[in-house]
Order: sequence, then C-alpha cells, then structure tokens
Amino acid sequence: MLTSGGRALKIESPGLLTISPVKLRTLREHEVLVSVRYVGICGSDVKLFSGRYEGPHVYPLVPGHEWVGEIIAKGAGVQKFSVGERVTGECSIYCGQCQFCREINEDLCTSVKKHGISANGFAADYVIVNQSSLHSLKDCEISDESACLIEPAAVVMKGIDKATAHMDPHDVLILGAGTLGILATMIIKSKPNAKVMIVDINETRLQIARELGADQVVAMDMKLMPAHVGRGSFDLVVETSGFSDVGEVINHTVKPGGSVLFFSQPKVSFSTDLFVSKMVNIFGNIGGTGKFREAIELLDSKGSEIVRLITNVIELGEFPQIYSQDESVVTRGCKTILKVK
Ligand SMILES: [Zn+2]
Ligand SMILES: [Zn+2]
Repeated sequence: MLTSGGRALKIESPGLLTISPVKLRTLREHEVLVSVRYVGICGSDVKLFSGRYEGPHVYPLVPGHEWVGEIIAKGAGVQKFSVGERVTGECSIYCGQCQFCREINEDLCTSVKKHGISANGFAADYVIVNQSSLHSLKDCEISDESACLIEPAAVVMKGIDKATAHMDPHDVLILGAGTLGILATMIIKSKPNAKVMIVDINETRLQIARELGADQVVAMDMKLMPAHVGRGSFDLVVETSGFSDVGEVINHTVKPGGSVLFFSQPKVSFSTDLFVSKMVNIFGNIGGTGKFREAIELLDSKGSEIVRLITNVIELGEFPQIYSQDESVVTRGCKTILKVK
C-alpha cells in the first residue's frame, strides 16, 4: 500500500510550473492505480504551459496525455487488466450520455473531458484512472519511451483514415516535421504508391523524417513553398505546422479534387473556390479514440527506429526549473518526454 501519493508536475497558472505533492484517494470499483514511467509533451502541452491553449482547459492542471505506466493496484470491478500490466490510455473521457455520444460521433461529445487539458493528466508518479481509458501493452515489445508516441500516432492514423477513405494518395505534402508530421510520414508511407514530401525549417526534424521514410525533405520557410513546387502537385496535403501562412501554400499545392487534412488549427482563410470549383475535400482530426490498438501494432512493428523521434528526455522533477530557464527546450528538437520513474 502506498503511503504517499508521490509528485505531480502542475501548471499553477500560465508560465508557472511546479512539482507538487499529491494525495491519493481510495480506488473506486472500476479504477486502477498507475505508476507512470514516461509522459510525452505535445504541442497542446506547450500551449498550456504558456497560456496559449485556446480550447476548453483548466488551471491549476497536471498536464500529460501521452503516457506509459504500470498498474500497481486495481478496484474490485476491474477484470480486464492485472496488477503489473503495462498500459497506456486515451486522452478523451466521453460522457456516453449526450446525443453525440449515443447517436452520432463521440468525438463531438458536448461534455468531453480531456486528461491533461480539462482534467488532471499523467505527469505524476501515480495516477488513478478508470479502466475504460486504458489500453494494454502486455503483448508488445515497444519501449517505454516509444510508447509515449502511441496517443499521437492514434490521432494521426484516425485523421489519415478519414482523408484517404475514398482516395489512394500518390503525392503527399506534409507541412511541419514535428511529431505529428513525422508520424504522418510513416503512416502514409505504409500505403502502396505514396510519395511524401515534408517541409519544415528545423533540420534536425527533417533528418528524422528522412530516416523514417520521407522521400523528399525541404528545409524552407513554409510561405516560400508556392515558388518551390508546381501548382496542384499534391493529391493530399497534411497540415501539422500551425502556421497561419499555410492558407496560401495549401491553395497553391493541392490538386483539384484532392484533399487537405488539418491536425493543427491555424487561423487561415480560404477562397471558397478551393472547395466549390476545385472540389477539394477538407478534413480535420483531433482525437485518437478507436485507433489505439492499430497505433500500438504499427509502432510495435517499427521496432527501435521510432525512438528516433524522441530527441529530449528530462526528469519530471527537474522539468519546471529547466523550462523556466529556457522555454524553447520543448520545441527545439522533435519529441520531448519526461522520465517519471
Ligand atoms: Zn497531444
Ligand atoms: Zn457525450
């Protein structure tokens, strides 16, 4: 039995990160107690740290929705998981009651809560979580570090499935070579015939993208792209960069009848000509629910090569001080993860 709840990284308010002691309550019937090993930092976390996150969120907040840990205790009603089992889990907690959950699409849930965004997350020694959020890693060999990429991989897979349901992409342009852009490269390259060009100004990220399958990497400011590639060259454009300049890039590069997939939410404006006369299809995706098992299998099949995406490992307890000295520590490379155990 634990005598202490351990530590948690807490965003007290924008710009103020602390390591705080946690009190654990008794487990309820369908909950488990997880001892967290690693937690990834994603673009949403970076915005939450600095107060730039625009969706529903709360402070103070324990961030972290990309994680891996081990079950160390479970409630009486937990049958599917065992103590000692390695697990990861969903970011979104759907209500299951609203009209969207029951009849349409739970991604549109009107009462959704998100671990690490609008409810406390996993940047902590120990976390109590409902079993319905969990996915087992007991049958796979993926490393603990790489397991932090499962949640973003599920998000990317779900988006690519939406955008390619009625097309077989041949020429794909990916804007931004962060974690989502590189995972998108890997996932698209697992389809036959797809050629991927990826653009970013960060050479470290582009090198990783090349190693993980990109056919062409372009080190260039996004807004110069229209001068670099022919009009209508790509049947799928995947936007992960978040830059507001991408509107013109997309207008120029997407083929008539092609598709655009947004993982970011930049403030862009389009001429309606894009989807009326050019009949371009616009897709977007934010969550990974329904794709975790496939994401686990894909990353597991890639073996140790995916660990290349992780460019920075920081001890949980040291993170507030390191971040306060240099905020760019979380954006310089590709994926930063926090080592909890
Ligand atoms: Zn994320
Ligand atoms: Zn709902």
